[in-house]
Amino acid sequence: MEKLYRYETHMHTSEVSACADSTAAEMADMYKKAGYTGIIVTDHFFNGNTCIDRSLPWDEWVEGYCSGYEHAKARGDEIGLDVFFGIEYGDGGSDYLIYGLDKDWLLSYPDMMSLSIPDFLELVHKCGGMVIQAHPFRESWYIRGTMHCPTLCDAVEIYNASHADPAPNERAAIYAGWYGLPGTGGSDAHNTTDRWYGGGVDSPKRFTSALDYAKAAAAGEITVLMPPAGDNNADHKYY
Ligand SMILES: [Zn+2]
Ligand SMILES: [Zn+2]
Repeated sequence: MEKLYRYETHMHTSEVSACADSTAAEMADMYKKAGYTGIIVTDHFFNGNTCIDRSLPWDEWVEGYCSGYEHAKARGDEIGLDVFFGIEYGDGGSDYLIYGLDKDWLLSYPDMMSLSIPDFLELVHKCGGMVIQAHPFRESWYIRGTMHCPTLCDAVEIYNASHADPAPNERAAIYAGWYGLPGTGGSDAHNTTDRWYGGGVDSPKRFTSALDYAKAAAAGEITVLMPPAGDNNADHKYY
């Protein structure tokens, strides 16, 4: 059997995301126990459901924002889990997972929140980052409308394992197909106490960075994990 590496590509920590209940260290422990090789921490950004005080000066806000990733990375180094940095940028209706940029990049653009979502996504690409649209057709009480920027995305999250209803994921796959965009997967886990989502991707190659993952996703070199809603598929046979 081919050796595969399993990754969570979309997850949150309670240090940074107001809707998350478990700390970065608790989340890292959960994925390690489930046999994942690595995780990418994608907390809600300034325009999303962050719990970092928006009245802070930009550099202090960025420090707070990066703490979820940094805590997960510290725990990952202790337990043998690869931890990479990502961002879930968006207004809660239209959300974009950003990979390949870092704290220094955030610090160097203190005015980035004045940009429109499309202008921000263009800046990400200009600076070498990549964009994956998260759950483009999620339906929820907090979503009143969504915007789509297919020409500014490198791939689409066609399987968000937190969705109990199959329709939003089915629509996401159709949307990706319309635009010839590759599909990828993530769980969007916010705690260790909900049912086990078990989503993400498998890769025949071990990633060295979040950008490495995004490039593989855009090239169609990953397998999207599609656990049945509510299933526990932690099988411990992955690296
Ligand atoms: Zn959230
Ligand atoms: Zn999310």
